[in-house]
Amino acid sequence: MSATDPNKYPIELLFPDISAHKNGNTGVEYYTTFDSGVAGPHVLINALVHGNEVCGVIALEHLLETGVRPKKGKLTLGFSNVAAYQAFDPAEPMASRFLDEDMNRVWDVETLDGDRTTYEVERARQIRPLIDTVDLLFDVHSMQHKTAPVIVAGPLDKSIAMSRRLGTPDIIVSDGGHAAGKRLRDYGGFGDPDSQKTAVLIECGQHWEADAAPVAIDSVYRWLLMHEMIDPEVAAPNLRPLPPRQRVVQVVAPVTVESENFVFAQPFTGLETLAKGELIGTEGDKEIRAPHDGCVLIMPSRRLTPGATAVRLGRWVD
Ligand SMILES: [Zn+2]
Repeated sequence: MSATDPNKYPIELLFPDISAHKNGNTGVEYYTTFDSGVAGPHVLINALVHGNEVCGVIALEHLLETGVRPKKGKLTLGFSNVAAYQAFDPAEPMASRFLDEDMNRVWDVETLDGDRTTYEVERARQIRPLIDTVDLLFDVHSMQHKTAPVIVAGPLDKSIAMSRRLGTPDIIVSDGGHAAGKRLRDYGGFGDPDSQKTAVLIECGQHWEADAAPVAIDSVYRWLLMHEMIDPEVAAPNLRPLPPRQRVVQVVAPVTVESENFVFAQPFTGLETLAKGELIGTEGDKEIRAPHDGCVLIMPSRRLTPGATAVRLGRWVD
């Protein structure tokens, strides 16, 4: 297997049929809300911002099939890019990340209010009024490469603090997003340090690796438990042991692709630590080298199109 081509990772997970959830009860297709009738936050657990990231679907199916209901507040379970999910082709599994554009780069207000009419922007516009009512977002993702699960906490302390309360996985990435556009996890109040709204994004492992499913299931039950929406005995059978401690890696800078000529110097898969000056990649005559010692590579991408993030560079801060 070539470590450089995510299409070559084996598909170990089944892709459940989610068509039964199409109607939902929110007026937004594939979004279903359970209202406890008791005061409390509106919690959204979200899957499929990227259409080929099946572990979030498996975790939501688990909650739906188990009949989990919130003790307080409102719980919404949602599937975002369903059209891309339904276009999944095992022969070309990377192709169904999205149909027209990355749905996790369209959450700028200017884009949502603008005149772009890609499938993903239109779908984001459908979901947006519901998102505007959410207090606590847990967004379930997976990664191109087989690396340890991480939380992507964004730039704000409130999300890092909530990731620590969640207690797992052991690596928390604090970052400022991507040049190509705003992520759902940074939209509106989630990205406002003065808002009570908070978003946490988890990357459960490689998109189709078997282990991504129990990581996702553990995380959604822990998320509901920490917000006192379910009882410990409901969560317990689905939990994995907590890591002894969590560490935070701070993203220092993204490496943004500028041309068609970007190539990585090695088949990086993520979380490699480079010394200052080590070669990360080249773009024509330009060399991209590690800017500091202890330079951690975060989620190197194989979608090396101009404007996209090739890799993010970080350092351990805690
Ligand atoms: Zn994703």
